[in-house]
Amino acid sequence: MKVNAAVATAPKTDLEIRELELDAPRPDEVTVRLVASGVCHTDAIVRDQWYPTPLPAVLGHEGSGVVEAVGTDVVDLAVGDKVVLAPASCGVCENCIAGHPQYCVDFYNLNFGGARTDGSKMFTDSAGEPVSSNFFGQSSFATRTNVRARNAVKVDDDAPLEKLGPLGCGIMTGSGAVLNVLKPGPGESIAIFGTGAVGLSGMMGAVAAGATTIIMVDIVPSRLEFAKELGATHVVNSKEVDPVEAIREITGGKGVQYALDTTGVPPVFSQMTKSLALRGHGALVGAAKLGTEAPFDIGTLLTSGINVSMVVEGDAVPREYIPKLVSMYEKGLFPFDKLVKTYAFEDINQAFADSESGTTIKPVVVY
Ligand code: NAD
Repeated sequence: MKVNAAVATAPKTDLEIRELELDAPRPDEVTVRLVASGVCHTDAIVRDQWYPTPLPAVLGHEGSGVVEAVGTDVVDLAVGDKVVLAPASCGVCENCIAGHPQYCVDFYNLNFGGARTDGSKMFTDSAGEPVSSNFFGQSSFATRTNVRARNAVKVDDDAPLEKLGPLGCGIMTGSGAVLNVLKPGPGESIAIFGTGAVGLSGMMGAVAAGATTIIMVDIVPSRLEFAKELGATHVVNSKEVDPVEAIREITGGKGVQYALDTTGVPPVFSQMTKSLALRGHGALVGAAKLGTEAPFDIGTLLTSGINVSMVVEGDAVPREYIPKLVSMYEKGLFPFDKLVKTYAFEDINQAFADSESGTTIKPVVVY
């Protein structure tokens, strides 16, 4: 069938909206009519080829929509189901079986390879040339797409589908790193570096978990102000003060029990490790170019007993975790929609630009 899709053609170049042909769903896939898709920093860095998904490609990986057709082997989704799309995982490797599909042994190929595992691409252009697909198992910058049923998460019929796409990546990443990996408890302390969609979702997770010292660090004053409105107990502008010293001062010299780096900036990673209390736990979710190294003071930190985790997609099992986030949102415990600004699909490049400049925290294009 014919679809309209935003095609990434070259680094640092606007996406082009083109008419493409979408093939039929395979037996294990469903065809989804997209209602909306979030725009994530990761779309921009793949457009810019930090990760080598072959271009031209249909990117987009925070889709939400309605199932329009089901493959012959699909037993758990039906036409008309509302779904949020999540990253792809194989479902059969040891990590998938152990409940950690974000560390699927085939994660990179399934999510960044630009094709199905058999090498086929689901989109072709008007000249009959294939266009890379299956980005994060979905390529949601298209009016319709095919996804494996495994990475489509059914949500309630009355769920606000237009807002929910980012639950499949950015919001899941920040909140999951906090709720599934760091696990701060009531009365505990956390510092989060970066107040974008990922950092603020982590912050909302910390608020929901009952943490009572929540320190947000950034270099953009307006973002720090916004973080305060949403529940930060302290904010630190690391352009103006040394964040490690500021965090130690706020915590009476001890450091924080938990910390999250959402920036992927090497010196920030070092700051995060140095701001932890004895036996603290820090996590990195910010993406950096392949090969990026960060200084880590093994001399001083050896005796600190700290843990540092690298976390993908909140280490979440999407079919279990996304409905929990929807439920927390409906109860007013997780107001992630305050981060969202919607754009018409035609304005997708403006959405990218506003994300990059920081004027919009979580752009969502609506079809
Ligand atoms: P964003 O650009 O909206 O937010 C990043 C924030 O970091 C900004 O507010 C920026 O001002 C701040 N920042 C930059 N340099 C800083 C510094 N030196 N000190 C303090 N703050 C600084 O991005 P986002 O959407 O929140 O995503 C954050 C990161 O997470 C991106 O790198 C994205 O690619 C990555 N990501 C990772 C996963 C994963 O699975 N690990 C999933 C989704 C996104």
